[in-house]
Amino acid sequence: QRERLNVFRGKKSVTASGTIKEIFANIGSVEDAESARAADAEGVGLFRTEFLYMDRTKAPDEEEQFEAYCKAAKAFSPDPVVIRTLDVGGDKDIPYLHMDQEENPFMGFRAVRYCLENRELFKTQLRALLRAGAEGCIRIMIPMVTCLAEIRGVKALMAECCEELKAEGKRFDPDIKTGIMVETPAAAATADILAEEVDFFSIGTNDLTGYMMAADRGNAKVAYLYETYQPAVLRMIRDVCKAAGKADIPVGMCGEAAADPALTPCLIAFGLDEFSVSPEKVLATRKKLSLWSSEDAIAVADKVMSLGTAEEVKQYLDSLKKEAE
Ligand code: PEP
Ligand code: MG
Repeated sequence: QRERLNVFRGKKSVTASGTIKEIFANIGSVEDAESARAADAEGVGLFRTEFLYMDRTKAPDEEEQFEAYCKAAKAFSPDPVVIRTLDVGGDKDIPYLHMDQEENPFMGFRAVRYCLENRELFKTQLRALLRAGAEGCIRIMIPMVTCLAEIRGVKALMAECCEELKAEGKRFDPDIKTGIMVETPAAAATADILAEEVDFFSIGTNDLTGYMMAADRGNAKVAYLYETYQPAVLRMIRDVCKAAGKADIPVGMCGEAAADPALTPCLIAFGLDEFSVSPEKVLATRKKLSLWSSEDAIAVADKVMSLGTAEEVKQYLDSLKKEAE
């Protein structure tokens, strides 16, 4: 299998009808960046920075973050590294941040909500990112966005950071590309509005599936609902891609669904530009892309979108696998 996948190493990611896509990697550390590059990823689509903050007694300072982001960018130079700002809360607890115990942490004070209220902590990260942006190809990505006010709040803080850095005579990228995770139904439903104020989208199907289906990703009893093949979830993904296309901004996916080979034709048909997957899935995803023309992918997606249940979707997609074998 590995031998056969190796023919895709160093190749472009291109569909059978010649559309060029990007296959990026999801990483959680600087070391991961190096191994993801070795795995032939064309960029990083999601650097989960919460791991920089975990297993320690205080938050990493600006210098430490700056160095980490520069190193990750260097491993991928000249290709982009999308760095997600601190996504704390939900299932990700960082003891020294003293977050309150909440009845419902997945719907609580987390990620960008927490960061906007903890300005100094957030500005430290934004300053490090803005500075690293002057040294390599870095993009900023905001997690758990639900409305425009959050994007504007982050941008206002970034503008403050730029003023400060300028006054201090430090190098930074004032035009750093800034995008959002689309991982809440609210963001997906207003994708056309949000697209006006950001440079890119990345669909986070792990959270989007849970919030869309109102089913906890860790609860076995509702696992049958936590399913990307649910028509509700597929429609959201399709509509977010469409909104991005209309606004002429790139749309990626960094949830697990990006690496699901059964979904590849649908994602091609929807117009997904970038697939961000775990490093070991890079070559398999590139291979899968190469097997589908736009025309065939659209026929599959049309059929999938006409089906009424996740089971039917799954069965239909499985039947294609058998045909291909
Ligand atoms: C997601 O929600 O799809 C995602 C990629 O983010 P995380 O898994 O880190 O919540
Ligand atoms: Mg998420």
